[in-house]
Amino acid sequence: LVVLRGVDKHFGPLHVLRSIDLTIHRGEVVVVIGPSGSGKSTLCRAINRLETIDAGEIVVDGRPLPAEGRELAALRADVGMVFQSFNLFAHKTVLDNVTLGQIKVRKKERKKAEERARALLDRVGVASQADKYPAQLSGGQQQRVAIARALAMDPKVMLFDEPTSALDPEMINEVLEVMQQLARDGMTMVVVTHEMGFARSAANRVVFMADGRIVEETTPDEFFSNPRSERAKDFLSKIL
Ligand code: ATP
Ligand code: MG
Repeated sequence: LVVLRGVDKHFGPLHVLRSIDLTIHRGEVVVVIGPSGSGKSTLCRAINRLETIDAGEIVVDGRPLPAEGRELAALRADVGMVFQSFNLFAHKTVLDNVTLGQIKVRKKERKKAEERARALLDRVGVASQADKYPAQLSGGQQQRVAIARALAMDPKVMLFDEPTSALDPEMINEVLEVMQQLARDGMTMVVVTHEMGFARSAANRVVFMADGRIVEETTPDEFFSNPRSERAKDFLSKIL
């Protein structure tokens, strides 16, 4: 569903993605882990074209990434993204946050869009918060709204970039549970996370990055019980 071939990215002198080859199949959950600065966020942002790439290609659902305009808006809707910092529209209600994209990008009628928004808010467990503003919600609730907002676009794939790392510990699980459920429902997902419990239980594949390269790519069982590279062993010894 998502194919990266020979992807390279520099920020000035910094070579942040080096010959990345990665294929994400439909229905697959791929967890990306690695040390700070290894290029995980840049990889996610490149798939959504929030970053351009210098070389290689990225194909989503058979189509190379569009550069701009209406096609780019459609790509962003097809590739849902959830960030560490929720990124909700602060001056819109929760319901509007989940409704507006459906009307503007997917061209739905308001009534249909609101119905779908309410169903999604219910699915992520915040239906009762629909008429509040983001600042009135807890971090965990805001992040679940952000997930509902991305899902409202009927994305083909969802990218999560450290969705729980800005949350207080007691709110992490409520977000991970929503993600687990999404995985069970067959959503194609790329998840950057330090939550190794989630990686073990939800991932089909673990991708370990270091210095802009994919160093290991294997099943969670294999990765956690038998990491092959020194970089991965070192990383795991620090976080487990
Ligand atoms: P973290 O775990 O800290 O989130 P990461 O693996 O997500 O790290 P990236 O955010 O992808 O790493 O960053 C990779 C490298 O690129 C880092 O050295 C970072 O400082 C650099 N970088 C990221 N964005 C930019 C930018 N817009 N301009 C210049 N350098 C950048
Ligand atoms: Mg990052």
